[in-house]
Amino acid sequence: MIVLVVNAGSSSLKYQLFDTEKNYEMLAKGLCDCIGLKEGGRIKHEAGQTKYETEVFIPDHAFAVELVVKALTDPAHGVIKDMSEIDAVGHRIVQGGPYFSDSVLVTDAVMEDLSKCVPFAPLHTNAHIQGIKGITAVLKNVPQVLVIDTGFHCSMPEVAKTYALPRKVAKTLAVRRYGAHGTSHRYVSGEMCRILGRVEGTKIVTCHLGNGSSISAVKDGKCFDTSMGLTPLAGIIMGSRTGDMDPAIVPFIIQNYEKIPYEDRPEKFKTLSVDNVNDFMNKACGLLGVSGVSSDMRAVIAEIETNAHGCADDAKLAYDILVYGIKKYIGAYAAAMNGCDAIVFTAGIGENNAAIRRDVCRDMDYLGVKLDEKVNATARGKVTKLSAPDSKVEVYLIPTNEELMIAKDTEEIVRKPGA
Ligand code: AMP
Repeated sequence: MIVLVVNAGSSSLKYQLFDTEKNYEMLAKGLCDCIGLKEGGRIKHEAGQTKYETEVFIPDHAFAVELVVKALTDPAHGVIKDMSEIDAVGHRIVQGGPYFSDSVLVTDAVMEDLSKCVPFAPLHTNAHIQGIKGITAVLKNVPQVLVIDTGFHCSMPEVAKTYALPRKVAKTLAVRRYGAHGTSHRYVSGEMCRILGRVEGTKIVTCHLGNGSSISAVKDGKCFDTSMGLTPLAGIIMGSRTGDMDPAIVPFIIQNYEKIPYEDRPEKFKTLSVDNVNDFMNKACGLLGVSGVSSDMRAVIAEIETNAHGCADDAKLAYDILVYGIKKYIGAYAAAMNGCDAIVFTAGIGENNAAIRRDVCRDMDYLGVKLDEKVNATARGKVTKLSAPDSKVEVYLIPTNEELMIAKDTEEIVRKPGA
């Protein structure tokens, strides 16, 4: 089965094409960028050794889908002869709200429920809807499947999901912990269970550390708790998101913002109100806000090493807050699960940065964590056991592969009788 995986963001559309019969070989991948913007529109396409990039104005997601199909069927750099070779399409959906707990075949009723998810993640959900409509316009009756990021977290017990709000307020507005990165946590925890050789009885902490970061407790192969909340703003410090904070800070900052000298206020946030405070906490804070340099961890580390912007101390503080936050979550989740068999590092920072993994695992003798520092120092981008042979907890680097997970779910659902 040839499965196209689509990840539609507000101004981008990423894709990968899989052949499920050839052990899920990825035939091609690419990105349409700056959708709807007057400048910067382009498609980047890769198939094996062939790379192709062209600048083009992309007015909407439907046009982006047309470009993708053209790239995939192009005689020079394409991988299929005709779009009729595409058997199914899987879409990454970041927020399923209270409506979806599992991957599901697209129908009119499903699309109606998806539109009800808009208030929970407006930019993403609207982009997903555009992506699905774009595919429908071009590929007509090809079955489409939604793979829901929040689905994996639906198994969390009520005690982990529920906020201490009046019950009627929480229920009416469906305010609860939904989590994020669920497809990634599902993939790496599944791989970890495979390595451990069992699912039942396993207690795993998965650390997805990227531009957005989240940590999950996975017990018996099911999500038991996760660090992100109603939105992806909660949990550990992230590229430009605050992570956990005293909620009273929000009205406090709004009420006192005028006291901050104008030049000290972040660019684009010279005034702050209820209308833009969510944006402020998502885009001006985190590693960027603390370091004063960048939301990109590599730039934060470079600043610690070079002090090029005179911000080395703040950059170090940002680094330390990240390491401390990860340690706290691992400890909390080990306590919640009454133990921990394995810790998994994944995503951009987790897969590529040995120092952060080392610093997180330092002084964890209470759990019995012992890192093989030599192996850790060079481990990068591929499945690697990082713990020493006498460590009581397995520590692994497992590269995430959300697209593969989406392709597998899509195939499974489309192959079901009656689909
Ligand atoms: P992701 O969101 O998974 O693509 O991860 C992006 C984040 O990974 C960015 O903050 C990058 O700076 C970070 N990253 C990638 N490579 C490295 C590295 N070698 N060291 C530290 N951070 C890295």
